[in-house]
Amino acid sequence: MQSITIKSPLGEISGVGDRLRGRFERLGLRVVADLLRHLPMRYERELAELTIEAARRQVEEDPKATLSIRGTIAVIRRTPGRRPRIEATVEDATGTASLVWFNANWVLGKLHPGHEVLIQAKGNLYRDALQFANPRFNILDDEAPPTPTTDDRLRPVYPGSEELPSSRIEQVIASVLEPAIRGIEDPLPEAYRSERDLMPLAEAYRAVHAPRDEAEAERARTRLAFDELLLLQLGVMMRRHHLRERLRAPALRWSDELDARIRERFPFPLTAAQARVIREIASDLSREGPMNRLLQGDVGAGKTVVALYGMLLAAATGHQACLMAPTELLAEQHLASIRAMLQDSDVEIVLLTGGLPAAVRRERLERIASGEVDIVVGTHALLTESVRFKSLALAVVDEQHRFGVVQRAALREKSASSDQVPHILVMTATPIPRTLSLTLFGDLDVSVIDERLPGRTPVVTRVVEEGKRDDVYGYVAQRIAKGEQAYVVVPAIDESELGLADVHSHLEKLREGPLAGCRLEAMHGRLDAAERDAVMQRFRGGETQCLVATVVIEVGVDVPQATVMVVEHAERFGLAQLHQLRGRVGRSDQRSVCALIGTPTTDEARKRLEAIGSTDDGFAISELDLGIRGPGELFGARQSGLPPFRVADLTRDIELLNQARADAIAWIERSPELSEPEEALLRRKLLAVYGEALGIGDMG
Ligand code: ADP
Ligand code: MG
Repeated sequence: MQSITIKSPLGEISGVGDRLRGRFERLGLRVVADLLRHLPMRYERELAELTIEAARRQVEEDPKATLSIRGTIAVIRRTPGRRPRIEATVEDATGTASLVWFNANWVLGKLHPGHEVLIQAKGNLYRDALQFANPRFNILDDEAPPTPTTDDRLRPVYPGSEELPSSRIEQVIASVLEPAIRGIEDPLPEAYRSERDLMPLAEAYRAVHAPRDEAEAERARTRLAFDELLLLQLGVMMRRHHLRERLRAPALRWSDELDARIRERFPFPLTAAQARVIREIASDLSREGPMNRLLQGDVGAGKTVVALYGMLLAAATGHQACLMAPTELLAEQHLASIRAMLQDSDVEIVLLTGGLPAAVRRERLERIASGEVDIVVGTHALLTESVRFKSLALAVVDEQHRFGVVQRAALREKSASSDQVPHILVMTATPIPRTLSLTLFGDLDVSVIDERLPGRTPVVTRVVEEGKRDDVYGYVAQRIAKGEQAYVVVPAIDESELGLADVHSHLEKLREGPLAGCRLEAMHGRLDAAERDAVMQRFRGGETQCLVATVVIEVGVDVPQATVMVVEHAERFGLAQLHQLRGRVGRSDQRSVCALIGTPTTDEARKRLEAIGSTDDGFAISELDLGIRGPGELFGARQSGLPPFRVADLTRDIELLNQARADAIAWIERSPELSEPEEALLRRKLLAVYGEALGIGDMG
């Protein structure tokens, strides 16, 4: 046999022909290294096989022993009677044993005379003969006869396919394991490994595929998971170092006088939490090292004004700022409320969204590039190539917890001078669980607004069955009659075949029925900007009493007199989404209510509705959401642009993650570029996996 290395194509393995190679290829496995990285999902304990005679003697000695024999089925039949059962005889060269199953007719369809089987069960003696009751059995197929097990061992169970069972994968991996791991170099220096009690990498691969026992399998898994976590943390820290040391942002001079002038613009005194967070941000902004900060605060906590403070600081010191919102509707609303606060000031503020006519857009881009415009409010359109600022000092990203490491890089390229980057502030109402704030957002400093605004009372939430819909709208009508306003959120814009409520027909139904005489309007993403603006104006001004809308109003919309939120088909919305929708009310000292109409059909939907009904604490809700959906889903890890982990599991490897993070911080402090000779392999791996995603690939 040619000598096998980790680079060998699978076809070079003896016994792997074209057909088998194709099956591996369809699982994405092409070379030996792919095989090594194809890890078992779990292990099954397998006992050493005994001959039937040896097994009989062992049961004589120890009647409680569980054992394993291999033999051929000689007879199998159904025995009727009071307790019908299946009886079979299995034989090998040393003797016979009988097998019996109760209430298990299915066995008859599976097992036939001539089958070679592996039996695992407790044995007992019946008139000196060996007998097994309800034994577990495996039929050994011709294609992959496993070698007889001579010692107790753990058998790896691999993810396979219909055409490629785990046993076959096991056999091929076992045949190349020893030569393959000889070619594995360890990226972690020996001294570091022994300090952390980490297995050598080659040994970890050996042990993960062929562990001697559970403890060894676990140590192997730990090493592989740790490598992934450490690599990401090193990347994140390298990037953070790079940003701090090499990039320069405008240092904004700050004074008490300027502070007072900015605060004067706000129509309310700041809460203590807002003031504290503003101090943290202003202090960052006064330095040349670019700020990279996450601002967390529950829905309605008052984050916008914190961002506005920073943006005004930028404008007052002769620079520019931008605010990026997730929807056009929210961008438009931010523009309106910022304009209101900036009345009769000479701060120049414009909107930049995707829907602008080309001529208007061009004119605005020019004024942004020339520095005439101080503040730009917009959507993702801000990230497009053609947007250039004269001197962008602060970029704020609102309500986008998915705005990870990768996306932030695009913002850094917005300044005209190539050696200058903006300070970045990411705001979110979706609290990020610690595990994720250490990975996806690992390079961010975090500020938290943990205080309710004065005079706000919690929203009363009710989960209501569809049958009680009329009661809900009867109540809505009463509140509207008292001069309050309401939102009704439905899942679809147009009439759909799913039988879901849609904006237009639902609005008609309400107008002709329970809300007759009320002034209703529709709001959804297909209205153009001018129409949306007009609808919001009329709602804000109280002309419209009830807005029937899609989830476009999910984030950010802020109309304090609105006190009632009704969500139709609430079971179809995610937990974070429901929390955001509920956050549209409860924005004044009026008592607000949120009615979630829905009949959950899945267990998950039922849990979501229970959770949202039971708490209005955003942090608790995101923890619950994480539990129900898992981290990948919740934070769009796939959209983050980072390659997924193979081994590490953020729900269980928290301790490893903390360790990796602490190590990475110390490591990068000591050796920021990983330029020592013994770090060469580590550095190569790091750049290969994360270089592009983290924008550190071109570091000299
Ligand atoms: P979010 O954190 O959800 O973005 P907003 O910034 O939209 O919250 O603030 C919610 C509402 O509270 C807005 O109408 C805002 O003007 C108001 N607000 C913010 N800070 C204060 C404060 N210190 N006192 C009173 N009202 C405030
Ligand atoms: Mg907001």
